Amino acid sequence: MSYRYRCGTCRATSEPVATRRAARAERRWHRAREHSGLVPDDESIEPDAEHGVGTGGLLLAVLVGVLIVEALARITS
Ligand SMILES: [Zn+2]
Repeated sequence: MSYRYRCGTCRATSEPVATRRAARAERRWHRAREHSGLVPDDESIEPDAEHGVGTGGLLLAVLVGVLIVEALARITS
């Protein structure tokens, strides 16, 4: 899951970052640079569905994991 910080006042969106904590760091920098440390009226941190792992990707990862475990079980038996 990745996240984006959006500032509605500036109509600006950060690049996607890996964690909510990193998005909060983007927010802190943006507030300092663009708003002299003040809090803009319209801002948010949102999950970035475009760059995150969706349900299909998660299901595929689980399936691959099961297949690897099964293959290892066959090799060791
Ligand atoms: Zn702003």
